[in-house]
Amino acid sequence: MAFLNRLLPKIATPLKSRGIASLAALPETHQLLQKTCRDFAEAELKPIASKIDREHLYPKEQIKKMGELGLMAVAIPEELGGAGLDYVAYAIAMEEISRGCASCGVIMSVNNSLYLGPLHQFGNKEQKEKFIRPFIDGSRVGCFALSEPGNGSDAGAASTTAVLVGNSYMLNGTKSWITNGYESEASIVFATTDKALKHKGISAIIVPKPIDGLDLGKKEDKLGIRASSTCSLIFEDCKVPKENLLGETGLGFKIAMMTLDAGRIGIASQALGIAQASLEVAVEYANKRLAFGKPLTKLQTIQNKLANMATRLEAARLLTWRAAWLKDNKKPYVKEAAMAKLAASEAATYLSHQCIQILGGMGYVSEMPAERFYRDARITEIYEGTSEIQKLVIAGNILKEMS
Ligand SMILES: Cc1cc2nc3c(=O)[nH]c(=O)nc-3n(C[C@H](O)[C@H](O)[C@H](O)COP(=O)(O)OP(=O)(O)OC[C@H]3O[C@@H](n4cnc5c(N)ncnc54)[C@H](O)[C@@H]3O)c2cc1C
Repeated sequence: MAFLNRLLPKIATPLKSRGIASLAALPETHQLLQKTCRDFAEAELKPIASKIDREHLYPKEQIKKMGELGLMAVAIPEELGGAGLDYVAYAIAMEEISRGCASCGVIMSVNNSLYLGPLHQFGNKEQKEKFIRPFIDGSRVGCFALSEPGNGSDAGAASTTAVLVGNSYMLNGTKSWITNGYESEASIVFATTDKALKHKGISAIIVPKPIDGLDLGKKEDKLGIRASSTCSLIFEDCKVPKENLLGETGLGFKIAMMTLDAGRIGIASQALGIAQASLEVAVEYANKRLAFGKPLTKLQTIQNKLANMATRLEAARLLTWRAAWLKDNKKPYVKEAAMAKLAASEAATYLSHQCIQILGGMGYVSEMPAERFYRDARITEIYEGTSEIQKLVIAGNILKEMS
């Protein structure tokens, strides 16, 4: 398989002058990318999505293939081995992969935006060589360890500590809910280097895995995205070389927040993929299923549902692409990324809920994918900032702009 950067024509900065009204308004690169990702997801992900969900199987082979396509490092420059595409491209790829399998979507999103993203933005030359290059081709994945048992939304209250002893940081504490926790071979860990400074005393440290002093908690038994692993990272006198500090001492909270701002575009896109899949399954079923002598699609109640589903999906997609476009064009996008995540995650829950309703009893059993879409959708309203936190971000920005 060829890398996307070899497969696709170069982006000749066309996004700068164009608005995004639909896929057709996007450059050829993005349209080809969408087709490539859709074909891949149809052939490689859709057929296995149900089995790996049911059996909690990490899709190692599929992630490797995604890496070979460039999908595990979409926005990382070619000099570092990445696909060298922009964030709109990333959003499109993430939607298509998640349309096929939302577990593969989250594994991809954590590697792209939560692990490689901050390393690319804040890492020095040596760190990039050591911790980006080996993580682009799907043979290795990284993770991002911010949440703790005692604090998720209130990330600034981190209690994991990193104490400088000689030439090493000594890490102690527990990070919880870490996606890719089992398979990852490196993690960006947020730990306090100066408790008195509160969130300004948090630093980001790159921790290779496995390493002495780091144990993994049990694999969480989750409602959805069950083919991805989620577990605690438990640090007990874990010694990490001091050159693994990412950015500067005390910059960790800022790195985490900036990383999540970009990551939310990825989760919004994951939600779009689940929502799109829900709409397609609902339409296909409603066309075939007869009730009172005619297909469900002839019933106005069902048409109303489909209209609401399609409209919410399209609105969320435009918000998501706008946030990605703003990021690509180096314009402020924090509020827009929060709006995109809020709208897309709620759309995914709504569409998958309606999909079950349209399928009736068949929506409720695992023979059809609707119940998995519903379970997968739910997490998009929780991780990388709950919907309540997105509203705080949006309101905070609006009040600043309008006061
Ligand atoms: C499957 C899964 C994967 C995850 N992956 C990762 C990962 O890779 N890395 C990582 O670091 N974390 C990860 N997380 C953690 C996730 O980001 C947190 O669960 C999330 O941020 C919410 O934190 P919490 O669970 O502690 O809930 P809490 O913060 O305890 O929130 C509980 C409720 O209170 C609300 N609430 C809290 N504060 C406020 C407020 N100020 N205003 C209004 N409402 C508020 C919340 O919205 C929520 O409804 C993952 C979680 C899950 C379930």
